[in-house]
Amino acid sequence: MNIFSIKHYFTRNRIAASVAVIMYSPVFVFASDLQLAFYGPEMKQSSFVGAPEVLVQSKYTIDSTCAKIANKLGSVRLSDCQGKGLDYAGGNSVNGLPIMVKEFPPVEGRKPLSKVLVIGGIHGDEYSSVSLVFKWMKILSKHHSGMFHWKVVPVMNPDGLLRKKSQRMNDRGVDLNRNFPTPDWHTESHKYWVQKTKRNPRRYPGPAPLSEPESQWLAEYIADFKPDVIVSIHAPFGILDFDGPHSAPNKFGTLHLSLLGTYPGSLGNYAGKHQEIPVVTVELPYAGIMPSRSEISSIWSDLVRWLRKNASESLQQASQKQQLDDRQAQVSNFSDPS
Ligand SMILES: [Zn+2]
Repeated sequence: MNIFSIKHYFTRNRIAASVAVIMYSPVFVFASDLQLAFYGPEMKQSSFVGAPEVLVQSKYTIDSTCAKIANKLGSVRLSDCQGKGLDYAGGNSVNGLPIMVKEFPPVEGRKPLSKVLVIGGIHGDEYSSVSLVFKWMKILSKHHSGMFHWKVVPVMNPDGLLRKKSQRMNDRGVDLNRNFPTPDWHTESHKYWVQKTKRNPRRYPGPAPLSEPESQWLAEYIADFKPDVIVSIHAPFGILDFDGPHSAPNKFGTLHLSLLGTYPGSLGNYAGKHQEIPVVTVELPYAGIMPSRSEISSIWSDLVRWLRKNASESLQQASQKQQLDDRQAQVSNFSDPS
């Protein structure tokens, strides 16, 4: 029997709900389309007491998932993951592993400069992209000032990472980073996969946009959290990529900006281009080798510097827009004959 509390954001109704759940295994899994999928013959649960309390659960605990991650990755210790405030965030992988989030909230009562969503390991075989996020969580745990509101997802594709031979795709062989509902998905994504990638199984966009529980969860999480910036970590191109409004960063550490272009169904295309949320893609140079300690911290400090600059640019743009709106309102008031 496992007893623990979880925090889940009831995204469809945009109601933040803190839910304490007593879990007897095996139990329900909360699917992101609000359908409850049954995962075992026995089911006991804490009683539903009115909306918005919803039973949300995973087949695995945070602790056991941390154990699997630490077992897989030499550069993540069990103590980097267990007891570090990672929460189940209401989403599961195909195999029922929880998608974990660590929140670093803003100073109470103050609006953060920006809300930032950090995502590691959307491609399961890019080990360094997961390890780097654990290192950054360590830095944040020590130095988080509350200036920004961070939500950090260290392992976006736990099935891809934690299988015996890690793979880029999720457990159903879908490249999650091609599964987002960009407007061109239906016309372009399969055409691109067939013609440009020659049906490379590593680039399979899936049978339909958001066909996968991991991408469904992320799309809803973005809609709920409404981040000002998304930072997604990959490997092994050794560059920075950028999609969306505002000015792109020139460099983080030794990684320089090099625009790779957009793909149908990619996160950069979906969130950056179509939702106008700046998406910074950090491409580390190696999937299996971590950057040096100094490189990890200089990528981090350049990111934070850019976030500040980006936030002040956004504020300026917002105030210029406000001034323009005010001026237009004055003009239309003046010219109103009544
Ligand atoms: Zn990748």
